[in-house]
Amino acid sequence: MIKAKKSLGQNFLIDKNILEIITNYTDISNRIILEIGPGTGNLTSYIIEKNPKKIVVIEKDNELANSLKNKFNNKIKVVNDDVLKIDETKLFDEKVIVFGNLPYNISTEILSKWIINLKNNFWFECLVLMFQKEVADRIIAKFNTSNYGRLSIICNWKLNIKKICDIKPESFSPRPKIDSSLLFFYPKKNYIKIDNPNDLEKVTRIFFNQRRKMLKKPYNQLFNGDQKVLEKLKINLNLRPQNLSLETYYKLAFEYGKLRG
Ligand code: SAM
Repeated sequence: MIKAKKSLGQNFLIDKNILEIITNYTDISNRIILEIGPGTGNLTSYIIEKNPKKIVVIEKDNELANSLKNKFNNKIKVVNDDVLKIDETKLFDEKVIVFGNLPYNISTEILSKWIINLKNNFWFECLVLMFQKEVADRIIAKFNTSNYGRLSIICNWKLNIKKICDIKPESFSPRPKIDSSLLFFYPKKNYIKIDNPNDLEKVTRIFFNQRRKMLKKPYNQLFNGDQKVLEKLKINLNLRPQNLSLETYYKLAFEYGKLRG
């Protein structure tokens, strides 16, 4: 019997209805699947039943990775590594569908890494990912709300995002203390080009550093009081960071890149 490790965010999904919802949401027959953090393989078994072309899983826990190899034999390829250290684009030469009941402590880090590193060619068709509900609420938050912030802006840049459902603690073993949400991400056809994605990272970091304060200070810090950008983007510096739309932040990051040359 494998004991769940808290440090690796191990809460295993045991609810058959939820496992069905996850694997029925998008057609995976004959597709290439990447699963992040397969754990004891509960979700993996449901994926296999839908007849994908190939399944690759990335699991950091050595004990679980070995038991997955024994359990599934040659039905899946097990990569025993840390997802934060892997370059997923090098694992495949076709687009993949990504599943993950992500370890809560690193879920936003995984997602930000994927989005910031995305080139114009997406390496995935879509992502079906589980987050703690509070994080999912921040990812899908609209502007002018208190949940809106860096995570919403970065995640919505190149991806469309839909909530599939919320999930109660009873669906997991061991039970987490919090609710979870399942989100679906798929590439946008059109998005505002930003030459260096780290500019978006920086602009949102500086703007949301003091989210209750007016925009004047962070704007001047980044743009040195430049009036042209202000007029072009019609920004009122007496507003607060959460009052600027997604598009305004993408345009600000673009302008910031231009200014830096
Ligand atoms: N998918 C399984 C399920 O639904 O039953 C387990 C999900 S559990 C929330 C998260 C899984 O991610 C665990 O198996 C854990 O060992 C693994 N994990 C944690 N950190 C990881 C990392 N950095 N890279 C890859 N896997 C990781």
